[in-house]
Amino acid sequence: MVSPASIGGSRILLRKLREIMETGGQAQERLDRLVSMVAATMVADVCSIYLTRGAFHELFATQGLAAEAVHKTRLKQSEGLVGLVAETAQPLNLADAQSHERFAYRPETGEAPFHAFLGVPIVRSERTFGVLVVQNRVQRSYGEDEVEALQTIAMVLAEMVASGAFGDLSGLAEVEARPSRPDLLQGRAFSDGICIGTAVLHEPHAPLGRVIADDPLKEEQRLDAALRQVRSALQEMLDGDPGRISGVSRDVLETFLMLAADPSWEAKLKHGVRAGLSADAAVERVRGEHRAKLNASRDPYLRERLHDLEDLDNRLLRALAGVDGASAHSMPPDAILVARQLGPAELLDYGADRLKGVALEEGANNAHAAIVARALGIPMVGSMPGLLSRVEDGDALVLDGERGEVRLRPEPAVLHAYKQRVALRSARAAEFARIKDIPPVTQDGERMTLMLNAGLALDVHHLDEVGAEGIGLFRTEFQFMVSETLPRLEAQTALYRDVLEAAGPRPVTFRTLDLGGDKVLPYVTAEREENPALGWRAVRIGLDRPALLRYQLRALISAAAGRRLRVMFPLVTTVGEFDEARALVDRELEWRQSRGGKLPHHIEVGAMVEAPALAWSIPDLKGRADFLSIGTNDLMQYFFAADRGNPRVCERYDILSPPALRFLKRIRDDADAAGMQVSICGEAAGRPLEAIAFAALGFRRLSMPASGVGPVKKLILSLDAGQAAKAVTRMMNAGAGASIRAELTEFATKNGYAL
Ligand code: PEP
Ligand code: MG
Repeated sequence: MVSPASIGGSRILLRKLREIMETGGQAQERLDRLVSMVAATMVADVCSIYLTRGAFHELFATQGLAAEAVHKTRLKQSEGLVGLVAETAQPLNLADAQSHERFAYRPETGEAPFHAFLGVPIVRSERTFGVLVVQNRVQRSYGEDEVEALQTIAMVLAEMVASGAFGDLSGLAEVEARPSRPDLLQGRAFSDGICIGTAVLHEPHAPLGRVIADDPLKEEQRLDAALRQVRSALQEMLDGDPGRISGVSRDVLETFLMLAADPSWEAKLKHGVRAGLSADAAVERVRGEHRAKLNASRDPYLRERLHDLEDLDNRLLRALAGVDGASAHSMPPDAILVARQLGPAELLDYGADRLKGVALEEGANNAHAAIVARALGIPMVGSMPGLLSRVEDGDALVLDGERGEVRLRPEPAVLHAYKQRVALRSARAAEFARIKDIPPVTQDGERMTLMLNAGLALDVHHLDEVGAEGIGLFRTEFQFMVSETLPRLEAQTALYRDVLEAAGPRPVTFRTLDLGGDKVLPYVTAEREENPALGWRAVRIGLDRPALLRYQLRALISAAAGRRLRVMFPLVTTVGEFDEARALVDRELEWRQSRGGKLPHHIEVGAMVEAPALAWSIPDLKGRADFLSIGTNDLMQYFFAADRGNPRVCERYDILSPPALRFLKRIRDDADAAGMQVSICGEAAGRPLEAIAFAALGFRRLSMPASGVGPVKKLILSLDAGQAAKAVTRMMNAGAGASIRAELTEFATKNGYAL
């Protein structure tokens, strides 16, 4: 007997497996031969295959358990040790199975005398098809090599199931090899837009034909070549220009290169090919291990490293498949990228012109990739657990970045409905393009100013595209969030200069760093706070750690040398805080002047009105602040005491309700009395119905996401601001606090305003 624990043993095992795969015969017969071959090779008393059918794991074949139990023993999804292996998608190695709390005794199997248990998942592309088990009478722990050998067999088995090699097996149709039914996944909308296209998996997998090597020596050479290719590509990136996105620093690439050079990673891969796997299958097996660990880990640091490792595995697989990195990934013209999660650099690597959309299993609205997707105008939906196990390369997909859902393999009727929605959206887009250079003047002659909210250099091209008149809010923290390390003074200056240059004569209002709350930096370990939205954030950090803020102001002043500079501070709560922040601007101006540096020709310093306390301090800001900008996202969160990021409460209260509108009116009146310019720059400014209310309350400057400019411009052109002011005032004074949304919609529709 050759032990599978040796390389030679593994090869023999794989050769036998291949014989079983390649010889004909009934599927049941082949499964039976497989279990007896595995039991014999691994010197196990029992070898069993459980396949998952619907809600059960069914015993499909066994050597060593009672033959009558086959197709009779069915364990519920999470029942017994088999259920545990399927649930965790990880091997389970027990010297005494019966003393495990999850052990479920099934008398019909006759498994009472067996103590040692080793179960591995039969898994492929995140989908668990079942569990492969070996058992022994004696109490013993299986060695690492035995676990690996069994995993290899399970991998081949998974490929056989997936490729339909057991198609004639009764009941196997329910073990869905490749999902074919339409499916709907509800997630979260990270970037607006709708697209219809073809799924392209960011993480490819090795096809069946390549699992077992024809010539192990050749496979090792292929692996060596691919490793060299991945390492040298990383080295090239490191030697070249890593600044394709301002944040991808040398540090990240260096860490990556270090991981790629790690001998234990290479040793694991080599072990796989020497044991008889193809190079692709060896990488896939190592990737499976990384994934299983990733799924089980809650430690953010470890997860990040495992994600890096998985990324390297993917690069290696692509190199083996003969495609060089994401940029050469052969893709259909209507590709919708499907991934667990994505870094901003990876997304940029694919490029906006080659992707119609992105679907993520994980991800978050504030995650860097989502920010980049919005900047590039690529629809993105994320936060869909189970996505990767339900979609296959080449599946038809509809990605709805409006509602935050993905439809897999849609029925013709659904597809038809979506095609109509896409057509409607493009007709609307064409209409917005037509009016983009028309000044936003209402029917009764009120001139509005529509500006853009931006955060990356990439966003600035939207200015021309949508016809905005400037940037009303530039969120400077985005640069910090997409960086792996604190951006240096030069990098900050370069970005601000690029933005000012791209904007030309149009004004840009830079908002100083707004960190804290939900915006955390990976490289700054912040203390956990019970209540981050009410905690140490925004200008509070800037004033307590003035070095950071002063550096930023220094960069802004130097970037705007000889130009106009507009700066504002987020979450100012008291007049004293504003004075302190403004004093830092003065200090930086003096500092630059003392060194003979050129100054901006004009400087305006403003405050964001986000804290209700500041909203009640406007008369005192007279002569201190040059302008105000209302951040309705935060102002409403504090006004209604409802967390803007908590789906349970964030839509519970409406800005279009009398208390909120009266509050905004009050701010408007106080700003007028103090002679201060005031704008609105929260997300609400980009919604036509809200824009009616803001215009009605007397606001003339709105700053919004790029997608809002067209719809709001169209609304403004159709609006009678005087008539709307009367109606909104009436609704605001008559209401008992409830939302006026429905009433305002009816009024707007009746009067032909373009909503
Ligand atoms: C706001 O709070 O409305 C705002 C514009 O700032 P942010 O969304 O970046 O907090
Ligand atoms: Mg804010």
